Amino acid sequence: MRALIVEDEPTSALLSRHVLEQEGFVVDQAVTGQAAIALVLATDYDAIILDLGLPDTNGLAVMEAIRREGRTTPVLILTGTHDAETTVRALDAGADDYLRKPPVPEELSARVRAIVRRATRQRAEQLVCGNVVLDRLSRQLFVNGTEVSLTSKELPLLEHLLLNRDQVITRTELLERVWDMHFDPGSNVVDVNVARIRRKLSAARADIVISARRGVGFVLQLEQAPTGASQA
Ligand code: CA
Repeated sequence: MRALIVEDEPTSALLSRHVLEQEGFVVDQAVTGQAAIALVLATDYDAIILDLGLPDTNGLAVMEAIRREGRTTPVLILTGTHDAETTVRALDAGADDYLRKPPVPEELSARVRAIVRRATRQRAEQLVCGNVVLDRLSRQLFVNGTEVSLTSKELPLLEHLLLNRDQVITRTELLERVWDMHFDPGSNVVDVNVARIRRKLSAARADIVISARRGVGFVLQLEQAPTGASQA
């Protein structure tokens, strides 16, 4: 695993380097935005820690350039300011997370692990949850080794929920991801498709559940064994 630190302050760079090396990364450092962009284009990094206050440019410009070039490397922003607007702009520009300076080393470690884990999950060819396996290359769903047929909308819907298991995903996000357009928020197309997926999963005895969060969206979770079953 290789990581890039974009940082002009030696103390902060040293702290980030120490944390990343402890996490097993080989670490490169850029002290300017220009150098950072050049390195990102030339190297396949697994994580980037990006300072916003750089000598030649704002870290936000670096963030935007990275995503404009189609690089999906997870980026954690370090910000010296306590200004919410900057943080929001960084997240909108495609940053995966942010921390205020100076970060607590243990928290920096945990955040880096989390963004890398999320990115790995995004790249995974197979999404596995309990006895459910979604093969992203062949676009097939298996429950207990048996294929379950899904429609061209049901499959990406389930895929997005599996990618974000245990997190509540809004109807709007599902509409944008799966239907690639903005529907009338009153539309029940998501609910109808989720209901169909649920019926198919239940018929195949899948051990995952998709629950509705009233007025918000849906969450996919591994089914909990009924309490007391182990004593039976
Ligand atoms: Ca700085």
